[in-house]
Amino acid sequence: MPSGDIGFVGLGIMGRPMARNLMTAGYSLTVYDVVGSAMEEIVGDGAKPASSAAEVATAAPIVITMVPDSADSEAAILGPNGVLEGAKEGSVVIDMSSIAPASSQKIAAACEAQGVEFLDAPVSGGEPGAVSGTLAIMVGGKREVFDAHFGLLEAVGSSIVLCGGYGAGNTTKLANQIMVAANIEAVGEALTLAKKAGLDPNTVFEAIRGGLAGSNVLDAKGPMMIAGNFDPGFRIVLHHKDLNNAILTARELGVGLPVTSLVQQMLVSLINEGKGNSDHSAIANFIEDMAGVTIAAD
Ligand code: NAD
Repeated sequence: MPSGDIGFVGLGIMGRPMARNLMTAGYSLTVYDVVGSAMEEIVGDGAKPASSAAEVATAAPIVITMVPDSADSEAAILGPNGVLEGAKEGSVVIDMSSIAPASSQKIAAACEAQGVEFLDAPVSGGEPGAVSGTLAIMVGGKREVFDAHFGLLEAVGSSIVLCGGYGAGNTTKLANQIMVAANIEAVGEALTLAKKAGLDPNTVFEAIRGGLAGSNVLDAKGPMMIAGNFDPGFRIVLHHKDLNNAILTARELGVGLPVTSLVQQMLVSLINEGKGNSDHSAIANFIEDMAGVTIAAD
């Protein structure tokens, strides 16, 4: 069984089950979240609470961060009372948040300047993947740091791929989020059309899922749309954040993302309707509203 001290910062929908899997694998955890109540559950399971990210880094030579966006990662790692205030030379920071690649590169440079190693290691697989420890992990950073921490990442993921240098994990995650957003939107359009044509969306789902249009997205999100259950999961506001980061990155690179931009606008509309905390399968609501039907049974 592996052992060692790990610090974990950010105990939300994803961080909590990931931290629990690390403890189950045999690691000792010191944890911190800006919202004190977010720590209660995992501290109840045996993790040590800290009063700042700096204190976490003082207690543990490897610190994992799992916070919402670029500004949060920068605050948790570079900010006052952040990880770098407590980290010793030779420590390792693994930021598993989905953030802008340029922000990962900024954090990596600050870590290097202090003799601290860094990996950006965002994940895909959602809350179910976090709970079962089967996340897909996309990593950016140095090969030797990746190799040295592969075993640790295996406690939370089942597919772990080094994609390139600093920021490459998050560039890969943006590619992932573009495909997921467009796929959810297409599933929403398809099932809305079927419903308005008088078909049973569940029959259409079963007929389609074994063919070329079948996908993990269809299997995960189709049943949610059919049930009218939009409990998160992955919140609309977080997918909006990812598409914004994709569009900003594409602008820097001179790449056009027409479909991504369209779905990003749908997410703005859903957020303004008060659906920011719904699961991203609620992208279907935008299409349902235009058609005047719901995919779910009335
Ligand atoms: P969440 O909002 O549920 O949790 C984030 C946690 O970070 C919160 O508890 C918050 O209080 C804490 N936090 C924010 N700033 C902090 C700081 N400076 N210091 C300490 N704690 C801080 O979000 P989540 O769903 O767990 O997502 C976390 C990351 O994982 C995001 O980047 C998200 O895009 C990504 N992600 C989420 C999913 C999913 O299905 N939820 C799937 C894949 C990737």
